Amino acid sequence: MSQPSLQSVNHRIPRWALLVGLLVLLTGVFASWTLHRLQLETEQVAVKRYLDRVSEFVRSDILTSTMEHAQAQSRMALRLGQNSLVDEPGWRLEASAFQSHYPYYRGLAVVDTDFRVLWLEHNGPVELAENEIVVVDPLYRQRLREALDTGELVVTRTAWLPDRQPGIFFFQPILQDDQPLGYLLAVMVVPQAIDRMLPVFYRDDVVIQVVSRGMEVFPLAETAQPPRIGPQSRFVLDADDDGVGFEFLVHLSPTAIDQLTTPLPFFVLGMGVLLSILLAIGGVLAISAGRQAHVLAEANQRLTAEVRDREQAERELEYLAIHDPLTGLPNRTGITRHLERTLDGFDPARAQLGVLFLDLDQFKDINDTLGHQLGDSLLSQIPDRLMTVLREQDFVGRHGGDEFLIVVMRDSREQIESLAGRLLRSLDDGFEVGDHRLFISASIGIAFCPEGGQTVSELIQNADTALFRAKHAGRNQHALFTRELFGQVQHRLNLSRDIRQALDAEEFSLVYQPIIGLEDFSLRGLEALLRWQHRDGYAIPPSEFIRIAEETGIIARLSEYAMTRALSDLADWQKRFGETPFLAVNISGAQIRQVDFAEQISVLLHQHRIDPRKLHLEITEEVLIENLVRNRKSLERLNGIGVQIVVDDFGIGYSSLAYLKNFPVSVVKIDRSFVRDLTRDGEDQAITRTICSLAADLGMLTVAEGVETPEQLALLRQYHCNFSQGFLFSRPIAAHAVEELLSGRLPWADLCPESL
Ligand code: C2E
Ligand code: MG
Ligand code: MG
Repeated sequence: MSQPSLQSVNHRIPRWALLVGLLVLLTGVFASWTLHRLQLETEQVAVKRYLDRVSEFVRSDILTSTMEHAQAQSRMALRLGQNSLVDEPGWRLEASAFQSHYPYYRGLAVVDTDFRVLWLEHNGPVELAENEIVVVDPLYRQRLREALDTGELVVTRTAWLPDRQPGIFFFQPILQDDQPLGYLLAVMVVPQAIDRMLPVFYRDDVVIQVVSRGMEVFPLAETAQPPRIGPQSRFVLDADDDGVGFEFLVHLSPTAIDQLTTPLPFFVLGMGVLLSILLAIGGVLAISAGRQAHVLAEANQRLTAEVRDREQAERELEYLAIHDPLTGLPNRTGITRHLERTLDGFDPARAQLGVLFLDLDQFKDINDTLGHQLGDSLLSQIPDRLMTVLREQDFVGRHGGDEFLIVVMRDSREQIESLAGRLLRSLDDGFEVGDHRLFISASIGIAFCPEGGQTVSELIQNADTALFRAKHAGRNQHALFTRELFGQVQHRLNLSRDIRQALDAEEFSLVYQPIIGLEDFSLRGLEALLRWQHRDGYAIPPSEFIRIAEETGIIARLSEYAMTRALSDLADWQKRFGETPFLAVNISGAQIRQVDFAEQISVLLHQHRIDPRKLHLEITEEVLIENLVRNRKSLERLNGIGVQIVVDDFGIGYSSLAYLKNFPVSVVKIDRSFVRDLTRDGEDQAITRTICSLAADLGMLTVAEGVETPEQLALLRQYHCNFSQGFLFSRPIAAHAVEELLSGRLPWADLCPESL
């Protein structure tokens, strides 16, 4: 599973986003610039149009004014002609009036046809004086002469007046009945004229420059001129019709431009650029935020998926932690949890709570003979079968191996007991496992709450104790946990503790019971039997402590002690007496299950220099059948090193001798129960006889144990039983007493075979 990759969220702005931002910026700036240009142009066109219009007004106003004073002059000349140049004072009056009306005329003069000044009226410096000849530009002489014929006004080009002002001269011919008398000469100061003639209305709006023959005639250099900016309009006024006139260059004044133009184009440009920058930054941020959001969303998604996976894994782990993978049932932990919950809300007054400990009988055999796979397959079918008699709310868990734990609530204990019976019967049909049809039974121990325990562990433990009882009572049944059973359990526990302490305190010892050859009553063997003299003074029978030692596992140490002790005793006797009888040692199921048991025996035999054939290992029929496959291998190994195998307590375990032939068994020890009633019970006789003859046929020797009477002995001899062991000959005796026997003093000597 990958790490949550929040680290992969890149906080830098991606390059392409920057490019997009730049593009947006450029486009925005370009668009703003274009818009700005467009607006500017539109504005300039409007301004130019306005300027042209103003310029047109200016032109027409100047023309009109010029026409007006030209006509005034013409009228004055007409009047001079009519008066035949006699009314000098009248003219002077008229001339003054003209000048005050048109102040930009520097002077007026009446000139005769030879250009001599007759009369002069002026209000500023002029290069004229009365009775002097006017200096006339030769260019105009001809035209002036012709004008005397046509009466046309002649306007000269600009010339400099004495005060360095540009001026022009108007020559109006004075005629009397078509007879030329002279000219009315008017000297006009151009800048003043233009200044006066400019329409008042537009005066502030325009800045005018007038150029004539390369000379700036308006405004005059000395006067402060406003800057000429913006568009310009031009027109030419040609007063003398020589093709070169006054060129008027009209500009708008800054104030007019201010009024006519708006800052809008620049505002648009500024705003456009600003907007573009904002848009670009916004775009970049949006893209990177979007990308960030995308990456974050992805990371989030991955995180969510990871969290989901982990939760799932945790759920699975949790499930695995409390479930058994084979059957899918709750395991030991699951069982504990369920029981804890159940006990939590349990009220014994309302219902009965039963904990049923179910264990399959001899499941080990199935595992050993058919293999674990088929064993597992069988195990996995058990829950379904149990469910056929259970209710949905009942609980089944696998406690381990072939053990199942069932928790039920019913109205009465009888109901729970009858359910246990039905559970056992539900298995009766057998199971299809591979190609096999397997039949298996089970045993159930039941503990009721609260008598059988108030806590989870007590209930399970006590149900297990009851199960043990059911097993011992012969399997395929159920047993209840009772107070009495509890007492037994306590006793067992105490005993188990005592066994450990006794082993350390060397309270155990061995006694030997002679085994007699029935042909000649010779001492053929010695069976080593454990004895426990409790430190409190009383002896505890092996039947009791051996079973408990087996149940609690201490049997391994106990058996080891017995085996070592017996072998060292035998080695002792060998040293002292040379030839000795065989030594029979009882072997527990726990020992035979040890993988290296044969090796251990082999080492011990070697250590004590004992011929393996001298050692008889007694294994009860029950133990033998319990672990068929494993025992077979173990026994073969033991047989391989040369020790003899004895089947102890034979006859009660339902196995046949024919079956035993599959094992390397050399001696069969007939169970004491058959011998006990031998003289009274015909059936026991038949069984004993059959065992003896069949064993002989199979090449096995027979031992009868528990022989107490000569009658029993006689019958056994009759059946050709090989050996006998019992109180009739000798009780189990201490090791030192064995020495007596070995030295040849046999207490049963008076039991002469011939006398039987
Ligand atoms: P077992 O191996 O069948 O031993 C024979 C039992 O029969 C002995 O009981 C013996 O005292 C008793 N017995 C012998 N002759 C007579 C008789 O004529 N009449 C009666 N009533 N009993 C007779 P013990 O010593 O009490 O042993 C009981 C069982 O304890 C033994 O049965 C054996 O299975 C087990 N046992 C004893 N010692 C050991 C041991 O060292 N290891 C193991 N694993 N089991 C042992
Ligand atoms: Mg025995
Ligand atoms: Mg026995």
